[in-house]
Amino acid sequence: MDTIVMKFGGSSVADNERLKLVANKIIDMYNKDKNIVVVLSAQGKTTDNLISEALELSKNTKDREMDMLLSSGEQISIAKLSILLNEMGYKSISLTGWQAGILTSNTNQNAIIKNIDTTRILKELEDRKIVIIAGFQGFNENLDITTLGRGGSDTSAVAIAAALNAKECYIFSDVDGVYTADPNKIENAKKLSALSYSEMMEISSEGAKVLHNRCAEIGDKFKIPIITKSTFNNKAGTIITDIIEENTIKSIVKKDVSRVSIIGNGIIRNVDFIKGIIDIVTEYKLEMLEFNVSESKISIDFKNLIDKEILERFHSIIL
Ligand code: ASP
Ligand code: MG
Repeated sequence: MDTIVMKFGGSSVADNERLKLVANKIIDMYNKDKNIVVVLSAQGKTTDNLISEALELSKNTKDREMDMLLSSGEQISIAKLSILLNEMGYKSISLTGWQAGILTSNTNQNAIIKNIDTTRILKELEDRKIVIIAGFQGFNENLDITTLGRGGSDTSAVAIAAALNAKECYIFSDVDGVYTADPNKIENAKKLSALSYSEMMEISSEGAKVLHNRCAEIGDKFKIPIITKSTFNNKAGTIITDIIEENTIKSIVKKDVSRVSIIGNGIIRNVDFIKGIIDIVTEYKLEMLEFNVSESKISIDFKNLIDKEILERFHSIIL
C-alpha cells in the first residue's frame, strides 16, 4: 500500500471548522487505500503569540525553554485532529516529534533532522491508523525537545516522507501553489504547475516564504515529489519534482533590499531573456551593484529602489 504524507499549515487548522475540512480531505485519501501520515503546524497565530508572551517575561529567553514552549502549539493541533478523526469513526493517533522518532542536532531553535526511527509510525500504520505527527519538532541526544526554525513543519513533512519512502508529500496551505512572483505584490503573477527541486531551493533561499528552505533539498536528495496545494479549493497545485525542460524562466523574487532574483533551469543560456533584462536596466537607468549568475538563477543587486512598476516589467519578460 502506498504511503502519502499530508502536511497542513497553521491557517488550515486554525479552528474547529477548518479542522473538519482537513479531516475530510484526509479521509478521502485514506479511503483510496493509502497509508496516511499527517503532519501539522500549530493553529493560526499560536506560535507568534507564544513568542510574544515569552518576550513579555524575559528579553533573554533560553533557546531550550523556547523550544519547550513553542513545540506545545503543534501538540495542541495534532491532539485535536486525532480527537476529531476518532469521533468521525476513523482510527487515528497523534505523535509528538520524539514519539515519532525524529532525532535532531542539538541546536535548539534551529535544529536539523539527523535521523527518523520509523518503528512506531510503521506499527501504527500497520493497524490502519491515520498517524498524525507534530511538525517543527524533534528531540536531541540529551532527550530535550528541539524545533527546526520558523516554518519548519514543511521540512518535518518531507523528511518523514523520505524516511517512509512515501509516494508523495502534499503541503496544504492557504495558497494555491508556487507563483511566478508574489501574487500579493504582482497582480498578474501566474501559478506554476511544475518546478524542479533546484529551482525551488533557489526560490526559498531568495526569501520567498513558500516552503521552508531545507524542504526542497531533502525532497531532491530522496526523490520525494512535493505537491503544494490549497486546503480551501480543489485546484491543481504546484508539483516540485525532478522533471523540467530547460530554458523556461519560472520565477521572480524581490528581497527587501533592491535585489531581484530570476529563477529557472538553464537561465544562463537564455539569450533573449538576458537581453530583456538589459533592456529594462537601460530603460530605467538602473545601476547594478552586483550581478550573480548560476545555472538556474540570475540575481542582481541594484543601487536604485526597485518599485512595483519596475518589478512588473521584470515579471512581464518571464510570462
Ligand atoms: N508553528 C511553527 C511556526 O509558526 C512551525 C510551522 O508552522 O511550520 O513557525
Ligand atoms: Mg509554513
